[in-house]
Amino acid sequence: MNNKDQILVLGAGPAGIGAGIALGDRAVVLDNCPDLGGLCRTIVLDGAVFDWGGHSFHTPHAAIRDLVFGSLEMYEQTRDARCYVQGEMIPYPLQKNFPLLGNSAIRRECASGLRQSNEGNGAANLEEYLGTRFGAGIARHFLLPYNRKLWGPDLKHLAVDWVEERVAGPKDDEDKLTSCSGKRIPLQSDSRVAYPARGGFGEIMRALAQRLRHLYLGQEVVHIDPLRRKLATACGDVFHWQQIISTLPIPQLLKTMNDVPPRIKEAVMQLKGLPLALVLVVIGHSVDTPVQRVYSSGPEIPAHKIVINHNSSPYLRSLPHHGILAEVSLASNQADGDLQRQVIQGLQLLGLIRSADEVRTTRILRVPAAYPVPTTGRQAVVRQLKTWLAHRGIISIGRFGEWAYINSDEALNRGLDVGLTISQCDDDFDLARAS
Ligand SMILES: Cc1cc2nc3c(=O)[nH]c(=O)nc-3n(C[C@H](O)[C@H](O)[C@H](O)COP(=O)(O)OP(=O)(O)OC[C@H]3O[C@@H](n4cnc5c(N)ncnc54)[C@H](O)[C@@H]3O)c2cc1C
Repeated sequence: MNNKDQILVLGAGPAGIGAGIALGDRAVVLDNCPDLGGLCRTIVLDGAVFDWGGHSFHTPHAAIRDLVFGSLEMYEQTRDARCYVQGEMIPYPLQKNFPLLGNSAIRRECASGLRQSNEGNGAANLEEYLGTRFGAGIARHFLLPYNRKLWGPDLKHLAVDWVEERVAGPKDDEDKLTSCSGKRIPLQSDSRVAYPARGGFGEIMRALAQRLRHLYLGQEVVHIDPLRRKLATACGDVFHWQQIISTLPIPQLLKTMNDVPPRIKEAVMQLKGLPLALVLVVIGHSVDTPVQRVYSSGPEIPAHKIVINHNSSPYLRSLPHHGILAEVSLASNQADGDLQRQVIQGLQLLGLIRSADEVRTTRILRVPAAYPVPTTGRQAVVRQLKTWLAHRGIISIGRFGEWAYINSDEALNRGLDVGLTISQCDDDFDLARAS
């Protein structure tokens, strides 16, 4: 199929798959990778199963949950995550569980800071927010060093529009969002999370993609001509289109187009992506712990987050080799040759392994943009870019298509929404023409 009425969907991550499902036969989905799923892909290394960063499924959208659970068998469990603070491991999140710390000085500091804290309303940036919302003790002992480890040293350039959905409230404080709000609820110590009953997180995307009618992988989009409504791929294929739904990172999308004016080029330069190194560690036996995630704020462990991925399902737990993944932010670190050794030492410190001899294989994967950095002012920039693209027939959606700190469920939801809206508009137009 290649006709002028078709809608091209660029990217077969969750947002592109959602749009493709909603548009049905009219959608042609293109992705440059040989595998689908985008950032939700799975990697098998030496018999252990990893994802591109620790993934689990949870959503405030009932329809998205039904779609996923209706497409493949999922395994659901209570999330077991911990915070590692100055040699102690307590349940996540620290702002609710600090009374469990053995160190009484830190405990007192956290409690007294919290008594003087307020809602954090009106905080101008992330640094200010963490201090006012959680108090000086919790900020100093965990939340400031953790966020600096993740985003880099300067938290004053980060906005706070995302924290309500991402950062759990403090102890004795009800989180504002409820599951009916349609917004993401920050993860708590009793949150329920799901994962495919077999295989890695990417199985969700594979199952959903069965519903796509026209999916072409290994098709890198290299040129888009909005005037002639033509798109070319690196293989030399040319597609005609009526509309494009793009889930490509906006900077990449703009590179495929000629005649981008200087003001748009300048605007897109303001969008920052956070690079990560993912250190994949394969252990030659079962790792005996129920813990799924460890969050660490200190310098003794290079990763801000350790993902014990085999605890995502009984299937993964039953495999002879277990995978542990360390997410290391490259905001201020360099992933040098020593990183693997430092990560392994960190795993020993956490008690996940006893000796380096238990490690069979390691590999480092670099993700040039894993998180859209939530800088102040980015929302206005994204609005400007999306409007400019919309005038050229291109709707930009998804994590890096909107520079929004969203998960796979929200990306899928946005894709479905856009696809359904277009289908609905076209039906209305056809009805009006017929009457
Ligand atoms: C470290 C980390 C941890 C995460 N943890 C979770 C989690 O626990 N739970 C959760 O639900 N989500 C999690 N996420 C988020 C989730 O992975 C993303 O929200 C989701 O994948 C975004 O989907 P998307 O479709 O918007 O973009 P993407 O998944 O990025 O898909 C974009 C697609 O565009 C394709 N593409 C790019 N350039 C071109 C081109 N020129 N031509 C053709 N195709 C192109 C890419 O190959 C890719 O397939 C995590 C992400 C990271 C990085």
